[in-house]
Amino acid sequence: THSSPALQIESLNAWYGDSHVLDNIALHVSEGETVTLLGRNGAGKTTTLRSIVGLVRRSGSIRLRGRETIKSPIHKLAPLGIGYVPEERGIFSTLSVEENLRLLPQYADSAFTVAEIYRLFPNLQERRHSQGTKLSGGEQQMLAIARVLRSGARILLLDEPTEGLAPVIVQEIGDLLKKLKSLGYTILLVEQNFRFAKKLADRFYVMENGKLAETLTLAELNRQPDVLDRYLGV
Ligand code: ATP
Repeated sequence: THSSPALQIESLNAWYGDSHVLDNIALHVSEGETVTLLGRNGAGKTTTLRSIVGLVRRSGSIRLRGRETIKSPIHKLAPLGIGYVPEERGIFSTLSVEENLRLLPQYADSAFTVAEIYRLFPNLQERRHSQGTKLSGGEQQMLAIARVLRSGARILLLDEPTEGLAPVIVQEIGDLLKKLKSLGYTILLVEQNFRFAKKLADRFYVMENGKLAETLTLAELNRQPDVLDRYLGV
């Protein structure tokens, strides 16, 4: 329903084989909000995103705009407006930029057209005949985000979009995410780069050993910077 959060997770547990890696996670992201998951390596951030899109064995409740999806297979999720950009980006490296964009099914009227994608990402237009493998890390990240916009997603799950990128490209990705936020997109971001996350996020969850350890608004985090020392050792 309209008043439901874009994403609401309750009692989420997840496993790799016998290994129990997420322990009773509860979190939500409101419509139009940008929320960041922080935590050390191995805390369970990536697994949380993978659980939301059904890539790991999980139990509990995951509602998208009020609709329960815990039993939904992965191909039923994209039509509900969720788009996942994994850390390894998941573009087709042997295809051109344009083929990567044209190959996708569009699930919603809100889906960007290829022309709209190029307006938002002028550098992808310049590189539109280049193969995925020929793109820089930043261009690959832009293409990966462009693909989920093209599919019509309005809730974006982004796993460390700035990892390994030069500062000038990190800035460009930040500007892009701010733009998407201003367009009303809902964003759940996994990010180790706290300085980057601080410029975008409305709220933060801190994960530790597969559990949620803390939830903080940006203002609260600014008032208690020691929280980050405690959980992240920064
Ligand atoms: P990172 O930034 O290192 O990815 P993370 O917070 O995203 O950290 P996860 O990748 O979600 O952490 O990992 C959570 C736990 O699950 C860790 O203990 C990790 O070793 C384990 N794990 C991750 N992927 C697998 C897998 N494919 N098989 C088994 N265990 C895994």
